[in-house]
Amino acid sequence: MNKGLEDYLYEGDILLSRQQIDEMTSLRKKRQALTLDYRWDKTKPIYYRFDPNLDSAVPQLFRVGAKFWTDNTCLNLVETKSTPSIRVFDGTGTSTGCFAGSGRFTTDISISASSGCNYFGIITHEIAHALGIMHEQIRYDRDDFITPIPSNMNEFYLKYFLNEKLSYSNSNNFGLPYDWGSNMHYRPVNDENQIIALAKDRLYQSSMGRAMAPSFKDIYLMNVYYNCLCTSGASCQNGGFRHPRNCNICICPSGLGGAVCNERPKAENGAADIGAVLSATANYQTLSGKIGDPQRVLQRAQAVHWHIYAPQGKSIEITILSVSGYCYYGCGYGSLDVKVKNFLIEGVRYCCPSDVAANPVLISQGSFASVSLYSQAYGQGFSLKYRYINPPPTTTTTTTTTTTTRKPCSDVATNCITNAALCYNNLYLQLMKEKCYKTCRYC
Ligand SMILES: [Zn+2]
Repeated sequence: MNKGLEDYLYEGDILLSRQQIDEMTSLRKKRQALTLDYRWDKTKPIYYRFDPNLDSAVPQLFRVGAKFWTDNTCLNLVETKSTPSIRVFDGTGTSTGCFAGSGRFTTDISISASSGCNYFGIITHEIAHALGIMHEQIRYDRDDFITPIPSNMNEFYLKYFLNEKLSYSNSNNFGLPYDWGSNMHYRPVNDENQIIALAKDRLYQSSMGRAMAPSFKDIYLMNVYYNCLCTSGASCQNGGFRHPRNCNICICPSGLGGAVCNERPKAENGAADIGAVLSATANYQTLSGKIGDPQRVLQRAQAVHWHIYAPQGKSIEITILSVSGYCYYGCGYGSLDVKVKNFLIEGVRYCCPSDVAANPVLISQGSFASVSLYSQAYGQGFSLKYRYINPPPTTTTTTTTTTTTRKPCSDVATNCITNAALCYNNLYLQLMKEKCYKTCRYC
């Protein structure tokens, strides 16, 4: 965290100009992120330069991060030695953290030369700030998706996590979903690993705070923000969008691949492709895998993907048996990610035994599920079993005459919001399911 710089920073690690602060506090302009007025000119190169005092390891990885955003948007980030440009410098001494200027009028990005910032996920996070993107957990609608726990927040988190929430009038989500697995989402724990935010859909509690690489939604948002989207070209499926640098292929949600996002992606970043397309049967089958380098921290996370199909009209039941690897809140070193619904956002994430205990069984909403294994450091493994089952009954239609029918998605109790934290308390699970069906996200 950026202790010591709080007074100069907005939202923890974003450095705003005086003019920007005035505008943001006056709530005059819409930003999604920032007001559109602060977008860089996408028709010109966006220059960056390295301060001489930087640790020699930083430029090399920064170039990789800048290339990532260039490759996946219509923006052109170009290294230069001249000004004006985004200055990448060593913030050590003024901060123990990583922070960035935001928008085209602030041209300082600070990347600490310490190992604490020199990761692909963090560098691409800071570049996203410099291009105008804010943190996911301050979206104006964040309280629909997370329940902050102020009692576990120190001054820093109260300020930057809880109180800096954007307003509807000065921000714009561009219609994109809340992504707990966004690279722009803080970890949901404080420095003592106490919970400071609960995912209202409890499946996604461990998806928050990974910072391994921009998520699909982060990339989509940047392209929408800068209006990079192609107007014609490939017919992307499953939520993908046309690649701004080649409209005939698509950028796909994680776990999906091929030219139009209807195939299993190949293994990424040097992993052996042990993935496969699998067919679920009525009987359990097992699946396990292991990737990564037990000895090393990799520059980019390796990834392998599996697809599981069930017959039409059936659901896939996936029971996680175990995960191995580094257990860390947010799963920043690697994880098993499973998608059973809403493929636009990152999946349900497992890297600790407690993750398995919290969500041991997943049931797909359709007849398809994806399983992805990621490893950034020290190796990652898993085992699970899967089969198809009849879809769980839904409450949307009913021909019964029972007097206790509940509307498809509603609460019975009136104080569910204020008690939402109980949705995740084992002692109250059944009660909350009965009384706070909607708030606890069972529908
Ligand atoms: Zn940040």
